[in-house]
Amino acid sequence: MSGQQDQTVVDHHKHEQFMSQPESPTSDVHPGHRRTSGAPPSEDGQPHVRPEQIGPAVFERIRQRPGYDTALDDIVDAVASGRRLNVAQGETVFATPDIWSVISLGDVYRRRLHGDIAYYNVNRHLNYSNVCALSCKFCAFHRKKDDDGAYQYSIDEIREEAVKAAASGATEIHIVGGLHPWLPFSYYTEMMTAIKESAPALHIKAFTAVEIVHLARISKRGRDKQDGIKAVLQDLKDAGLDSLPGGGAEVFDDRVHDEAFKGKIRGEQWLDVHRAAHELGINTNATMLYGHIETRRDRLHHMQLLREQQDRTLREWAVKFGVGLQKAVNHDGEEHEAVVLTGPDTNGRQPQAGDTPNGYHQTIIPLPFFPDKSDLEHLPSPSGLENLRTLAVSRLMLDNIPHVKAFWIMQTLAMAQLQLKAGADDIDGTVVWYDITKVGGTGTSQECSVSDLTRAIREAGFRPVERDTLYRPVARQGSAWSIAG
Ligand code: SF4
Repeated sequence: MSGQQDQTVVDHHKHEQFMSQPESPTSDVHPGHRRTSGAPPSEDGQPHVRPEQIGPAVFERIRQRPGYDTALDDIVDAVASGRRLNVAQGETVFATPDIWSVISLGDVYRRRLHGDIAYYNVNRHLNYSNVCALSCKFCAFHRKKDDDGAYQYSIDEIREEAVKAAASGATEIHIVGGLHPWLPFSYYTEMMTAIKESAPALHIKAFTAVEIVHLARISKRGRDKQDGIKAVLQDLKDAGLDSLPGGGAEVFDDRVHDEAFKGKIRGEQWLDVHRAAHELGINTNATMLYGHIETRRDRLHHMQLLREQQDRTLREWAVKFGVGLQKAVNHDGEEHEAVVLTGPDTNGRQPQAGDTPNGYHQTIIPLPFFPDKSDLEHLPSPSGLENLRTLAVSRLMLDNIPHVKAFWIMQTLAMAQLQLKAGADDIDGTVVWYDITKVGGTGTSQECSVSDLTRAIREAGFRPVERDTLYRPVARQGSAWSIAG
């Protein structure tokens, strides 16, 4: 899988002061980026925190705070003027003891893109099998076929789960599993078809990149390399697949890969699978599993590779979709053309998987490593502060990925609440049947009610907005829902 990803999750530039620029004629169709005027009304009728309000005083307050680390001066300047951070600056943000400024800078970025909105969704997870041909060191989820606790769902059982999910009001079913050595490729296409037949409104987000590579092998298209990957994705899409989760990315570094998850695909292959998905109009997420044997520099390298891929993807997307490019300035002061994110995307103007020429990375999900019951059990878990810091750095570095998710089921809802303050704009969903973390023994609950999620968001000072998988706002009455607007 899958696995740890989604741990095991079984899941610039000078931005031209993007919020203060006149609206370009094409900005309404940028992927996931609408201006504040498109945001849903607040519950009390008051204006929301508008990106335009992030003026010089905000940065002056950061500098004036007792304990401010002057090593952050050029980073504060870069964020204030919308310049993309480079890796060395990312290292400074990781190293500074001034966590309050790190959090404040992450918050500036999230408010520019999303104002005071914090997203959640109503979803269900399905881990169709824990049987896996691999035995990644960090994975406590996988089993061999005859092991105690090994399982796999039949197509009928999957159909039942889809019906239950739809009846409970879920808008999305998130499906990942182990690399089952004996299930045929037809099992996976039948799974998609069965779900679409029994619960047509459910968005199917399924299969991490390593599962897609596995499916290319078992469908005898592994030798066709990128063409084989594309053919598998096309078959799955034709059968009902809507988008890909971001799991299995771990950390894009060969040393870390060979030591901790040898046998899984390398970063290059993960990126290739997502590139193929984007070319087919399939949106994807991206994860980063941190806090094990990688270094902070490895994390920054991971972010840099994702950022470069997203730059290319968005440029291609803009050309095919007829969206004008804008001038951006990188950290060295060089101008170039790019898709520059503007913010809040709340009115469903994103391109949707299936009806646009290109997909793209919607969301980055930093995932802390939980060593319990894995072969890396001797390692400590990342601390709360490291989790906050990593999330804020992800928001700052990945300026071209619209959303940053604090995945509460791995972070806990309390930590996800804090992460909303540090740059996250999404805390995922109600999540039921999340077998992977349960097996890992993190002690996190498997289900959260909508009122738990919205209360946590409001307590953190943000406005909860239910979204579908494509970040379109959802209007809901009980289990009945529709896309708002
Ligand atoms: S052992 Fe299998 S299920 Fe676990 S992380 Fe590795 S590929 Fe995924």
